[in-house]
Amino acid sequence: MRIDKFISSCGVASRKEAAVAAKRGLVTLDGVPVRDLSQHIDPAASVVCFEGRRLVWRRYTYIMMNKPAGVVSSTDEPGDRTVIDLLDAELQRIGLFPCGRLDRDTTGLLLITNDGDTAHRLLSPKKHAGKKYRFSVDLPLPSGAEALFASGMTIDGGELCLPATLECDPDRLGGVLTLTEGKFHQVKRMIAALGSTVVSLRRESFGPLVLDPSLSEGEWRLLSDREIALLPTSNKN
Ligand code: URA
Repeated sequence: MRIDKFISSCGVASRKEAAVAAKRGLVTLDGVPVRDLSQHIDPAASVVCFEGRRLVWRRYTYIMMNKPAGVVSSTDEPGDRTVIDLLDAELQRIGLFPCGRLDRDTTGLLLITNDGDTAHRLLSPKKHAGKKYRFSVDLPLPSGAEALFASGMTIDGGELCLPATLECDPDRLGGVLTLTEGKFHQVKRMIAALGSTVVSLRRESFGPLVLDPSLSEGEWRLLSDREIALLPTSNKN
């Protein structure tokens, strides 16, 4: 793998930025400054430092995004802005895709990765990865809503939902709903079954990941090593 590709896939700099840093002697290979970043290295064996920091290569990339409203959770949607379009150009070329979908108007935690195995595990209905949503509605939710959701309700005349946990705000015009599955428009459809309409929806957690409060809508960052260790996969390198 080329050194500049290695650096960009570690998410610390684009290839262009890496070239600038290399000119200033800030990229080293096995302890020696390198200027020619087209050189090929073995990413698992070579010691590359960028601005004094050793870079650890990972086969896969994991990104936490605070998805903004108005973009779609897919890789390519002609005529539409996707979550992938919000990433740096370098990261748009390494086969990343959103792990699951949020509606266009839904904001909050979205995992973006190129690790199909982990994505599959997180999305598998058998794994029951929890998803926590904060929502607000137009009309107060009825008093029996918590019990109904906890019992496993049916929506749209027959689709059975797994038991879900609803914690309503005191005015019952919003709250937090925790699901262990991901049916199409599930939050909106469960709320609609109570006679209310979702006005805003934000995902706050997904499986073991919790939305980083320092990320504004539209911002993203690489997962930390600690967060990656929490993901349900057998191979993280
Ligand atoms: N449920 C919904 O209705 N929409 C989402 O985006 C996610 C869960």
